[in-house]
Amino acid sequence: MAVAESDRTTVLRGHVAEAAAELRARGLGLELDQDPTAIDRWLDLRAVELMRSCTIPLEYVDEPIVAGPYTYDMTSCLEHVVTIEELSYGDTGFMLACPGPLMSGVTVGALGDTSQRKGYYERVAGREPTWTFFGLTEPRKGSAATELEATLVPEGDGYRLSGTKRYVGNAAFAQLGVVFCRRAPGPLGIEAVLVDTDEPGFNAEPIPTVGLRGARISHITLDDVRVEPEQILGFKTLKSTRRGLVGAIRTLQRFRPVLTGTALGLARAVLDHVQEQRPGITGTDRLRLEELRDRVAAVRQRNYQVASAIDAGRVRADHIAGVKTRAAELAEGCTLLAADLLGPGSLVTDPWLNKAYRDARAFEFMEGTGHIQRLAVFQGVYKGTFLKD
Ligand SMILES: Cc1cc2nc3c(=O)[nH]c(=O)nc-3n(C[C@H](O)[C@H](O)[C@H](O)COP(=O)(O)OP(=O)(O)OC[C@H]3O[C@@H](n4cnc5c(N)ncnc54)[C@H](O)[C@@H]3O)c2cc1C
Repeated sequence: MAVAESDRTTVLRGHVAEAAAELRARGLGLELDQDPTAIDRWLDLRAVELMRSCTIPLEYVDEPIVAGPYTYDMTSCLEHVVTIEELSYGDTGFMLACPGPLMSGVTVGALGDTSQRKGYYERVAGREPTWTFFGLTEPRKGSAATELEATLVPEGDGYRLSGTKRYVGNAAFAQLGVVFCRRAPGPLGIEAVLVDTDEPGFNAEPIPTVGLRGARISHITLDDVRVEPEQILGFKTLKSTRRGLVGAIRTLQRFRPVLTGTALGLARAVLDHVQEQRPGITGTDRLRLEELRDRVAAVRQRNYQVASAIDAGRVRADHIAGVKTRAAELAEGCTLLAADLLGPGSLVTDPWLNKAYRDARAFEFMEGTGHIQRLAVFQGVYKGTFLKD
């Protein structure tokens, strides 16, 4: 049954849509696709300002997002989802290239003590644009994240961090980020540490990619990077078993609806692009377009429900995985339909569609592949809880 969108959500969508429209109108996504460092030229745009505030608690934000009668709290999963979906409609790659806390902000919120949170959020919300990263994936351990191999070894009154990370967004351009590493064997021996990228031994290089070049995924080498105990998130306040892995899981569960919104924003942009290119579209072609529009709208509504449930403390891994998988498939499906309705040559002659087609393929892998999401859905189906709220 359809649930009416709240006025608060509608107002936020309209507010962010204006910033997103500027990205589309100026074709900034295509420029960034050519040169992902071009983001540095557009740091004064409203879209960048919005991205910088995402996940930061209100007490650290000088100018919170205010639209109509509402002040928005970007630690809310729903408000984050609404914002990201609209910005992704403007351009997904541009959005991901922006400075701001992105995923690491959620990890710091989940695990950090008061002084770690203050230090991190004040820095990221400060006047200087700050890029961050979330370093979980490793070359030999992607989906099997609990088997990660980067090590945190005691040395004197601190530690040494060593290992490699791969496919980490913005790492080669970031000032700080979170690295997941192993202090002891087993899943509960994982820690999350805050790392400054100018520390000796930290090195990150961008990885050339075919699509979603704005994500600026990078390869990180950690060669005996010095880590003080206070850089370990939750070191003073949480038991070791409640730290690293718990932070990774909470971050991924909180962020998957955001990635779902990202995929849906791109899907909507593709459908609108087809409509713009073929304003007189009729018959079966029109029906095929409308069918996908309906499916995108349905998944968006479901995603809003999932995000609202997270805000209410009801975190359902199977529901979160279900919407993420569906949205990733839809984004790809929309680009396939676009290529069909605009003609096979359009992928060569239409640079915008060519880029959207390449970008949409990334969602399958980001924050867990489709196989991993389907395993989570299966758990819910097997337990008989998937269809229950
Ligand atoms: C644009 C982009 C941005 C990213 N940003 C970040 C980031 O900021 N930080 C970060 O840490 N990572 C990031 N990643 C990495 C992403 O999280 C990984 O790509 C993903 O977790 C999969 O890991 P992998 O690529 O090593 O694939 P693998 O885990 O090696 O998987 C390879 C294949 O095996 C399948 N497979 C693996 N395990 C199972 C299983 N148990 N059952 C069934 N099938 C299985 C997978 O579905 C896949 O098809 C990013 C990736 C992309 C594409």
